[in-house]
Amino acid sequence: MTTKTKGRIFSGMRPSGRLHLGNLLGALENWVALQDDYECVYCIVDVHALTTLTDGHEAREIAASVNEIALDWLAAGLDPERSIIFVQSHVPEVMTLHTLLSMVTPLGWLMRVPTFKDRVRQMDETEESVSYGLVGYPVLQTADIILYKADTVPVGADQVAHLEIAREIVRRFNNMFGPTFAEPRAKLTETPLVIGLDGHNKMSKSMDNHIELAATPEETAARLKTAFTDPQRLRRTDPGRPDVCNIYSLHKFFNPDDLKTVYDECTTATRGCVDCKAHLADGINKSLGPLRERRQDLAAHPERLKEILADGAQKASAIAKETILEVRERLGISIP
Ligand code: SF4
Repeated sequence: MTTKTKGRIFSGMRPSGRLHLGNLLGALENWVALQDDYECVYCIVDVHALTTLTDGHEAREIAASVNEIALDWLAAGLDPERSIIFVQSHVPEVMTLHTLLSMVTPLGWLMRVPTFKDRVRQMDETEESVSYGLVGYPVLQTADIILYKADTVPVGADQVAHLEIAREIVRRFNNMFGPTFAEPRAKLTETPLVIGLDGHNKMSKSMDNHIELAATPEETAARLKTAFTDPQRLRRTDPGRPDVCNIYSLHKFFNPDDLKTVYDECTTATRGCVDCKAHLADGINKSLGPLRERRQDLAAHPERLKEILADGAQKASAIAKETILEVRERLGISIP
């Protein structure tokens, strides 16, 4: 990792299978660009995924997902020569820091986090029945960031509040034990809202309204055939309304030069939705072609992927070990 003047970024993703177009446009492309200006630490946060575990089978799925997400990251342009790319659990110091930060984090702060309440609802649980790990999720998240002395976290405008608890934990730690960590600041990023194939919800795997980055051209076209369009356009001869059609909004990303044509032909009913979707499939397949090729190539060399992640863990570990030594000293629990 080369030294860059703007600071050190930390960001992570939970392993939940192959990534999709929404992940690419909403986060990954931005992460790739950040590598030009920042030291970047990108982490596959598999321990976070365990906080909502319901059975052992799910744990095995998480492990399998780690490789899939790593393939997508690298194929999309995260560069192990410029960034530290690793798996959270491969650097166990994060668990140590999580425990130590837990000692300075009031329970009330954690129980008030809006995402905690949302998760409890999504899991159909109560605040008493969810795991202790889920309650402590923001503490682990804080440990992720500050263990690697990152000072900047890329977030969308709607996520700035999530970082506030990390800043509060850092402030409290620094006040109690002396200045040790920088308060991580948000780097506001443009995150376009990518609507899924159902035409209503944000593209996500759990809604099954997504297109995987690794999909074949044929799979991409087949998925698009099922997509909702303008609900008022019942016949081919009805003029369409591109402004309410998600296929049109996806053309903005993948066929930007053809937007006027799509708009004009749709509103004058000289283009049918079947052809419009095929046109979009071509745009997506063309745009993702190089990514898919790189992914296939990497997938054919699993030992290379293993090496990249091991190398990333080694680099991350070197920073983490120093931080833990410093923290233990601050807390008066250094090993003699
Ligand atoms: S022609 Fe294209 S933009 Fe118009 S409604 Fe059909 S899919 Fe949507």
